[in-house]
Amino acid sequence: MIDLHAHTTASDGSFTPTELVQLALSLGLTALAVTDHDTIDGVPEAVEAAAMTGTLEVVPGIEFSVDYIHGEFHLLGYFVDVAQPAFLSRVRYLQENRFNRNQVMVRLMQEQGFEITLADVEAEAGGGQIGRPHMARAMMRKGYVQSVQEAFNEYLADGKPLHVPKVKLDPAEAIELVHAAGGVAVLAHPRFLGFSARDELFTELTRLRALGLDGLECYYSQHSSEQTETYLGMAAELDLVVTSGSDFHGVSKPDVPLGVVFQGKPGAPELLERLRARRNERQIVVAP
Ligand code: AMP
Ligand code: MN
Ligand code: MN
Ligand code: MN
Repeated sequence: MIDLHAHTTASDGSFTPTELVQLALSLGLTALAVTDHDTIDGVPEAVEAAAMTGTLEVVPGIEFSVDYIHGEFHLLGYFVDVAQPAFLSRVRYLQENRFNRNQVMVRLMQEQGFEITLADVEAEAGGGQIGRPHMARAMMRKGYVQSVQEAFNEYLADGKPLHVPKVKLDPAEAIELVHAAGGVAVLAHPRFLGFSARDELFTELTRLRALGLDGLECYYSQHSSEQTETYLGMAAELDLVVTSGSDFHGVSKPDVPLGVVFQGKPGAPELLERLRARRNERQIVVAP
C-alpha cells in the first residue's frame, strides 16, 4: 500500500524525513513519496532512512506552486533527479525568493505592532523552509491570534495586509522542469483548483495535458467519492496517470493521517507502477 503525497520538516510538515519514514514503515506502507513545497531538501534523508529497511520505497518528489488564472495550483513532480542542474538551480532560486519574502513579511508584522522576529518564525519551522504557516504559528504562540486559521483569515491569506506574494513558476515551466529532471508531472488535488463547472476544469486539464502533464491526483484525502469518480473519468479521457496521496503534514494538519486516502485506505501499488511506466516511456522519448 502506498501514499504519494506527504510533507516533512523541510517544508511545513511536522515530522522529520526519518520520522516520516518510520511512521510509513509502522503502517506497513510499501511506497511513500516525499513531496515538500518547492523544496527537495527532505528527500536525501528519507531515501537514506528507507534504504536501510529494504521494505519501503521512497519516491523523490516535490510540490511546486504554479501560477494560473485562480492564483496558484500545485504540481507534483515524481521520480525527479534532485541533482539535475536546471531543476536544482530553479528550486534554489525559489528558496532565495522565499528568504527575501520572509524578511519583508516579518517587517510588515513589526510595522503592524506585532513583536515577532525572524528568529521566532524560524523556531516554528525547525530548520526547514519557512512559509506562512510558520508565521501563523508564531502569531498564535505570542497570543496575537487564537488559531492558525485566524492568522490567515485576518492577516496572511492572499489579499490580506501581511501577505506578500511569492515567485511562482508558470505551468509550462514547472512541467518542463520536472521532465528535465527525469520526472513525471502530476496535478495535485484538483478539487482545490476552484473550477465549479466540470467543463472548466476539463478545459484546464486539456490545456495542461497539451503542455505535457502526465497525471492527476484523483485519489486524495479531501476528495469525496463523487469528486473522485469525476476526476477518474477525466483522467481516463485525457490519458492521465492516476495517483493517490493523503497530503500528510503531521500536527500541522491533524485531521489528515498518513496512508488514509480513499475510503479509509492507502493507494494501491499498481498506481505507482503505472506512474513508473509513464516515467520510463518519457525517458525513452527524450533520450538522444
Ligand atoms: P506559503 O507557501 O508560504 O505561501 O504558504 C502556503 C501554505 O499556507 C499552504 O500550503 C497552506 O498550508 C497554507 N495556507 C494558504 N492559504 C491558507 C488559508 N487561506 N488558510 C489556511 N492555510 C492556508
Ligand atoms: Mn502545506
Ligand atoms: Mn497542495
Ligand atoms: Mn501537499
